[in-house]
Amino acid sequence: MIIVLKQGTTKDQISALSNELNQQYNVTVNAWYGEHSTVLGLLGDTAKIDIEYIQAQSIVESVKRVQEPYKKANRKFHPDNTVIKVGRNTIGDGSLTLIAGPCSVESSEQMEIISGRVKKAGAGILRGGAFKPRTSPYAFQGLRAEGLYLLLEAKRKSGLPIITEIMSPSHLPLFEDVDIIQVGARNMQNFELLKELGHCNKPILLKRGLANTIEETLMSAEYIMASGNENVILCERGIRTYETYTRNTLDISAVPVFKKLSHLPVVVDPSHAAGIPWLVEPLSLAAVAAGADGLIIEVHNNPEKALSDGAQSLTPDTFDQVAAHVTQLTEAMGRKVNNWGVAE
Ligand code: PEP
Ligand code: MN
Repeated sequence: MIIVLKQGTTKDQISALSNELNQQYNVTVNAWYGEHSTVLGLLGDTAKIDIEYIQAQSIVESVKRVQEPYKKANRKFHPDNTVIKVGRNTIGDGSLTLIAGPCSVESSEQMEIISGRVKKAGAGILRGGAFKPRTSPYAFQGLRAEGLYLLLEAKRKSGLPIITEIMSPSHLPLFEDVDIIQVGARNMQNFELLKELGHCNKPILLKRGLANTIEETLMSAEYIMASGNENVILCERGIRTYETYTRNTLDISAVPVFKKLSHLPVVVDPSHAAGIPWLVEPLSLAAVAAGADGLIIEVHNNPEKALSDGAQSLTPDTFDQVAAHVTQLTEAMGRKVNNWGVAE
């Protein structure tokens, strides 16, 4: 349920109403203070609340029941965009953030070459997987703790904030200096992991599951937010359809739909969606045109020798071109790219 308050309502009046609702109906009241109005979002069993009684209060403008099962992620609860700060990047404020790097962290030299090149091309955040969710147990599983160490070394040397995937809550202590924690598509509904991530205060990039709906994705974001961490970034990375030409099918409509339904920032991963390097540029441009707040792109200095996802990785030279074209489009839309790497 959401209650829109009249302009000029004082903090004392808000807390009196919030306390009354909390005590009488055992609901949690979240206040969102906007420029022109204040919205109270009620969480819990609101079925027993008498709408007419609330409507009759002098400070109340309107009352609505929220049908959607996700509340904290719902734009109706929080009309303004959530803006997440990562290093010098702001994600969700209309600007575009480029995240780039290899699928897997493989060596110190590899990370040094790639971080230097993607930073120069305008990436604001470095990606690299240390714990890898592979379909085959015989495939490279990532360098794990050693990979995280190498990624942190690349962060120190390049100055770029880093993002990497977590697969188990027991690994959380290793992620202390990681800037954004990624939840991969396969773990989108690992609810114990989501609850645990809700107790840390780091931004979480939540990838949409291979066969999950938009609402299921928002419910997974809700798990993290309900446990206390509201810094969630949604990521569309392609879903499984009957099409086999591409690795997945990029659901471009998910971008404006997520933004309509939720206040959370949206990042698109064209690499895992396409599975083919030449498709990364057109899908990136489509994502920007559709309103994505960021792109996460796989880049490898030697894709043929990559230990995972080489077939979809861009070379640093190709990434230069993609970043340049994406920047042109972003600027033509009157938006800016958080390319502080270039300005350094
Ligand atoms: C990845 O980012 O390398 C990855 C495994 O992504 P996804 O979870 O989207 O498959
Ligand atoms: Mn990958």
